Amino acid sequence: MASMIFSECSTARLLPLRCHRSCPALSFSRRVSLPLTSSRLFLPSLTFQPRASSTSVSATMATESSAKVIDGKAVAKQIREEIGVEIARMKEAIGIVPGLAVILVGDRKDSATYVRNKKKACDAVGINSFEVHLPEDTTEQEVLNSISRFNEDPSVHGILVQLPLPSHMNEEKILNAVGIEKDVDGFHPLNIGRLAMRGREPLFVPCTPKGCIELLRRYGIQIKGKKAVVIGRSNIVGMPAALLLQREDATVTIVHSRTNNPEDIIKEADIIISAVGQANMVRGSWIKPGAAIIDVGINPVEDPASPRGYRLVGDVCYDEVVKVASAVTPVPGGVGPMTIAMLLSNTLSSAKRMHNFN
Ligand code: NDP
Repeated sequence: MASMIFSECSTARLLPLRCHRSCPALSFSRRVSLPLTSSRLFLPSLTFQPRASSTSVSATMATESSAKVIDGKAVAKQIREEIGVEIARMKEAIGIVPGLAVILVGDRKDSATYVRNKKKACDAVGINSFEVHLPEDTTEQEVLNSISRFNEDPSVHGILVQLPLPSHMNEEKILNAVGIEKDVDGFHPLNIGRLAMRGREPLFVPCTPKGCIELLRRYGIQIKGKKAVVIGRSNIVGMPAALLLQREDATVTIVHSRTNNPEDIIKEADIIISAVGQANMVRGSWIKPGAAIIDVGINPVEDPASPRGYRLVGDVCYDEVVKVASAVTPVPGGVGPMTIAMLLSNTLSSAKRMHNFN
C-alpha cells in the first residue's frame, strides 16, 4: 500500500541491536517490582492529566491524527515526586530510609552507566544506594556471597544484579539467590507464579510491564472487559504484561514469532502492548480505530541527521499509528522512563512492607 511505501517506517534501516534488557532506557526498565497492593497505596489518587487536555484519554474513538501522546516522561516525573514525598514521610515517622543494592560484575561501559544512572535516580528521591563492583573474572561464589550479604542487611530493601553477567556465570542461579522479599525486579519464579495465580499476590511485579499498566491507568484508559493483545512473550516484558492485563480483567491474546496472521489478531485489540524488538513492525493498517497502544520496543535505526548516526524507534510505526489510535506512547519518552520510576517505587514498597509502614 502506498502509505507504506512512502512511510519513514518502511524505509528505516535497522542497526544491529546491541541493547538488551539493560539498555539505557531498559536499564531501568528491566527492574520493576511493587506489590500490586502497595503500588496502589500511593498511585491511585493521582490520575495523570495529559498536558494537551485536562480530560482523561478514552480508548474508544479516534479521528485522523487524534491520538493522545502518552507522556511517560511526565508521568514518571510525577511518580518520582510522589516517591520522594513518601520517603520523607517514612523517614520522619519511623526513621527508616529505603535502600537499594546493585551488584555489577565486569567492566562493560554500558552496564556501568546504567548503574550510575540508577544511583542518581535513587539519590534524587532519597533512597540509599549500595554498590558492589566485582571484576570480570570473579567467581560465581563471590557474586553469591555479595547477594547473601545484602539479603542479610536490614538497611537494604531491594537487590539488583546488573545484567548481563559474564558468560561463565549461571544467571538463573544468581538471580534466584536474591531473597524473594528483596527481589525488586520481580523476576523470581515465586513472584511470577503468584502473578499468574488467581487469589495470590506477588511481592513484586516486573518493572516494565508494571509501568505499562500504570500508564494506561493514569491516562484513564479502561482495561476491564477490553480485548488486549500483547506482542512478545518474554519473561521480562511480554509474559508478565499479559498476566497483568488479565488481572485487570482484559481478555488477553499473546502474539509471538510463530503466530499466524498476527495483523488479523492485532486488529481486534482495544489495547496493544508491543514488546518485540523489531523497528516499526506494527503498521497503522493493523490497528483498530481508537485502540490504545503501549510501545515497549526500543530499536536503533540509522539516522545520518542525528549526531550519533542513529535514533531510537519503537516496534510501532508511530507516524501511521498516531492517525488511527486513540492513545499511543512515543519512543523514546514513553515506557522507558517508567521503568526506573517503578524500580524506585518497588524499593519504597519493599521498605514499607518490611517495616510495616503504611
Ligand atoms: P525478547 O527478545 O526477549 O522477546 C521478544 C519477543 O518478541 C519474543 O517473545 C518473540 O517471540 C517476539 N517476536 C519476535 N519477532 C516477532 C514477530 N515478528 N512477530 C511477533 N512476535 C515476535 O525481547 P524483550 O521482551 O526483552 O524486549 C522486547 C523489546 O522491548 C526490545 O526492543 C527491548 O529493547 C524493549 N524493552 C524496552 C524496555 C523499556 O523500558 N522500554 C524494557 C525491556 C525491553 P518468540 O517468543 O516466539 O521468540
